Amino acid sequence: MSVDAVVLDGVGKVFHPGRPGAVTALTGVALTIAGGEFVSLIGPSGCGKSTLLRLIADLIEPSTGSVTVNGKPARRARLDQEYGIAFQQAGLFDWRTVRRNVELPLELRGVRRAQRRARAAEMLDLVGLGEFAGHYPTQLSGGMQQRVAIARALAVHPPLLLMDEPFGALDEMTRERLQSELLGICATARTSTVFVTHSISEAVYLSDRVVVMSPRPGRITAVIDVDLGERSEQTRQSPEFFAAVTAVRQALRGTRPADREPVTP
Ligand code: ADP
Ligand code: MG
Repeated sequence: MSVDAVVLDGVGKVFHPGRPGAVTALTGVALTIAGGEFVSLIGPSGCGKSTLLRLIADLIEPSTGSVTVNGKPARRARLDQEYGIAFQQAGLFDWRTVRRNVELPLELRGVRRAQRRARAAEMLDLVGLGEFAGHYPTQLSGGMQQRVAIARALAVHPPLLLMDEPFGALDEMTRERLQSELLGICATARTSTVFVTHSISEAVYLSDRVVVMSPRPGRITAVIDVDLGERSEQTRQSPEFFAAVTAVRQALRGTRPADREPVTP
């Protein structure tokens, strides 16, 4: 049995507690993500998706409850670089080559130059950019830049990948291609993934489970198992895919019979 990738127990987050501008961003979040699992968080803007991801990453601390990553407290997991993180904007350094952008987390970790080079080359091959190692980010398309950001997030071989709307700024075709690539990468590297999106089809295509959230205060309202087997180009056209998309959409609207709580649109 492999250790769980993420365990959230009674997690709540209040920003500016006790002040007039206090915001309850999350309340009572309980979720366990198994090792190797791909889980998406979906929900309307402001429901706390990014907050939840930042809590897992220990970029912020919970107000209540506990966050465990790979069997360790979130703080320890961060210090041990147990996860890689990628955001909507690639966030590359324009003055560094593609190779040196990917090497950055390894540099910060004190990895020797020869080993950094080898690892960066391996990661760039994985995302199909081996030939572009010597280019600068501005010489690449948006989709290629995002692949560099993913290669960078994977460079330390993290057991856990955290992604916050990483394909949100890309056109639909590029996005679908990167989704397939990402699944291949995660399977090859046996990476557990928490993926934030507001695209229903993206969540369904990528995930073993889709976690549906609602705002005010942010909480989990449904968790939907997606059982589509190995993904292929046919998957997006299959009746099972459409059924899963419908299930997530209904959960988002709060219209599932098992979920009668009124949900503010
Ligand atoms: P999502 O990513 O689902 O759009 P967020 O997690 O960014 O939502 O935000 C959830 C709620 O928490 C929102 O109401 C947002 O305004 C609030 N929030 C997020 N970060 C902060 C912060 N640093 N200070 C105060 N409020 C915040
Ligand atoms: Mg967000």
